Amino acid sequence: MTSQRPAVFLDRDGTINVEKNYLHKITDWAWIPGAIDAIRIINETGYLVIVITNQSGIARGYYGEEDVNQLHNQVDELLAKENAHIDAYYFCPHHPDISGACNCRKPSPGMIMTAQAEYNIDLSKSLIIGDKSSDVEAGRNAGIAQYLVGTGYGKMQQGLDLPHFCIKENILDAVNDFDFITS
Ligand SMILES: [Mg+2]
Ligand SMILES: [Zn+2]
Repeated sequence: MTSQRPAVFLDRDGTINVEKNYLHKITDWAWIPGAIDAIRIINETGYLVIVITNQSGIARGYYGEEDVNQLHNQVDELLAKENAHIDAYYFCPHHPDISGACNCRKPSPGMIMTAQAEYNIDLSKSLIIGDKSSDVEAGRNAGIAQYLVGTGYGKMQQGLDLPHFCIKENILDAVNDFDFITS
């Protein structure tokens, strides 16, 4: 049995790229400053980088799963030029009002748990970084550490019972703060 690896679970919109409603084209993609550096730093620790993103635009019929997959392939190409990479993407295509309840839409921990099984992830050393309370709650529901960033919707989140040291300006600040366990 191969040994487990920890992971950094990253929200996508508002955390690594600038929040734009129902983004699905690479021409609308803009990196949040520091995001590429943050991903490269994580890569160098040996932690997996796993993006988990709610994409209710699919349930709403605004775009298809193939659009999301194509966008992620194009993001991978951009990252490869910067010597950084995302190990896997998981997206929830549902919306409860349209497609009914599901186990994957954050704050459910479903995407984290699926990735855990597929990549043999050590959740005890893992964390999530996101800009919404639903990201923090997904991490809490999966039993991993949580950071809320001030980019995207981060400054609008209220009522979260998070210690102050888990609230950072952006993804790079969060990554620089976290104690990666690399041994
Ligand atoms: Mg977000
Ligand atoms: Zn879902």
